[in-house]
Amino acid sequence: MMSHTAELSEDTVRSTLAKVRTPEGVALSVSPALAGVVVTSGKVYLSINIDPAQARAWEDVRIAAENAVKALPGVASALVTLTAERKQAPAAPAPAAHNHGHAHGGAPAPRGIAVPGVASIIAVASGKGGVGKSTTSINLAIALRDLGLKVGLLDADIYGPSVPRLTGVAQKPETTPDGKTMLPLENFGLQLMSIGFLVEEDTPMIWRGPMVMSAISQMLKDVKWGPLDVLVVDMPPGTGDAQLTMAQQVNLAGAVIVSTPQDLALIDARRGVAMFERVNVPILGVVENMAYFVCPHCGGRSDIFGHGGAHAEADKLGVPFLGEIPLHMRIREMSDAGLPILVSDPDSPQADAYRHVATGVKAALDKATAQSRQAPRIVIE
Ligand code: ADP
Repeated sequence: MMSHTAELSEDTVRSTLAKVRTPEGVALSVSPALAGVVVTSGKVYLSINIDPAQARAWEDVRIAAENAVKALPGVASALVTLTAERKQAPAAPAPAAHNHGHAHGGAPAPRGIAVPGVASIIAVASGKGGVGKSTTSINLAIALRDLGLKVGLLDADIYGPSVPRLTGVAQKPETTPDGKTMLPLENFGLQLMSIGFLVEEDTPMIWRGPMVMSAISQMLKDVKWGPLDVLVVDMPPGTGDAQLTMAQQVNLAGAVIVSTPQDLALIDARRGVAMFERVNVPILGVVENMAYFVCPHCGGRSDIFGHGGAHAEADKLGVPFLGEIPLHMRIREMSDAGLPILVSDPDSPQADAYRHVATGVKAALDKATAQSRQAPRIVIE
């Protein structure tokens, strides 16, 4: 590990940006587009606020700014993101009445970020943190791999990236010689990308809303993915603006909602379902995590929260129920050691539970893909 003796200040960073010119020829340091500069123990985050129509021209500015900052003594890492503040609320065709789990009428709004090399992107989301969304994402990714798919895992939980811990992978990704594209890391036969590979784990992350989306979009499109059948995206927890923007701007094939039994009956998981439905992303299903307790000593099962409630809730919400994952000590112990249960104990009933979920996800994905192919491309009003 390098030590950074030089004290790096925001002023130093700003003044080096005088060398970088905006597409209009103005020094970035004085451009009103420079929206935010955050310097924290050698790590620099910049956000540049732009008109999305000018995104191509600004991409070179972004790269130049990143290189200029990286060249400063004392800089451990630099992340420059392009952000666009929305002028108006998203024009998602909000259904007047609640739908019944069928596709909405009308043309789906074209969704933005193209990710070359990836056939389908699925989001793994939760209404709140700590329900096991990341643990589900990695095990689902491995189980999908076992079903014969080529799979990647993008850790979009930039507030608390967990893929480095869950996979035991920590090195920095390499970039292509032109410096424009990062190569994903690999473990367990999965392609992996996480903001945690780019910054140290204990760095306090200060992200304003638009920066979140910009960082995620870079990890989607500036990474040399693929060819992949499925990219599993471990979303930031919750249903705030960042999640909504992600659901809107990324062409998601579907979403998996992870919930605990207590939470499912409550508002959080419902919000997750509602958010994706609002932007016409098919809900592939709900996973009930920590559904019941399995005693690590005797293997006995305790239905602490009762049984069948989650399935019934999913039915009420009109979304498929993908299965239940037990609360099991090995799942946590092995996760913390960088070994997903599908790798450490592939023959256990816990691993079977994840495989069952993956089979359901694959079937739902195939169905959603077939439906979207059938959807009319041109709608006559
Ligand atoms: P989230 O991504 O929703 O914040 P995590 O996947 O990081 O949640 O899980 C939170 C904690 O719960 C972790 O310590 C993880 O190992 C543990 N955990 C998750 N699912 C299970 C499970 N089914 N059994 C036991 N521990 C679990």
